[in-house]
Amino acid sequence: MRALEEAARDASTCVRCRLSKGRTQVVYGAGDPDADLMFIGEAPGFHEDKQGVPFVGAAGQLLNRLLADSGIERDEVYINNVILCRPPGNRDPLPDELEACRPWLDERIAIIDPAVIVTLGNWATRYILGSNVSISRVRGQRFPWNGRIVIPTFHPAAVLHGGGENSRQMASLRMDFQEMKRALAERPQPVEEQLGLF
Ligand code: URA
Repeated sequence: MRALEEAARDASTCVRCRLSKGRTQVVYGAGDPDADLMFIGEAPGFHEDKQGVPFVGAAGQLLNRLLADSGIERDEVYINNVILCRPPGNRDPLPDELEACRPWLDERIAIIDPAVIVTLGNWATRYILGSNVSISRVRGQRFPWNGRIVIPTFHPAAVLHGGGENSRQMASLRMDFQEMKRALAERPQPVEEQLGLF
């Protein structure tokens, strides 16, 4: 399998769908290429498109805070999106755009090989669990997927645009981050770590 850097270089010139025409740049992903924990969001927004980094706008600030409250550094995890390029006006991704981008995400997951994946919102959750699921029905549960654990939760932007800090959605998001921490703690450890050799 090729290295993440090489895949990212290749993706930076992608023209597989119309979104390539309107982007400032591809937003490939950010974080530890060996992360045990991966977050998948929807698509780059205005700030992500300008900076080339996922989750740097308002939703990213909330994600950073939830991570910090869970005792996790942002650079220990890997953060990316279902699609690499910003849709015009932040509209929803279209089916052919999702399809065109899917091999890039499949490859990232295979290279990084995270034990736990948290899907943020409907688009990322449907990428894993299929097209008909609704995030409010499946959030906070663990789903086995290709040898990994997937935990869907609300998208931070939905919480910001919905009830905000004191909403039920925000309380759910916090609960789901606790579940994510438990799943991480329970993940199978490499044998040498179990034996305490390193
Ligand atoms: N929302 C997303 O889903 N992804 C980002 O990178 C930023 C906002």
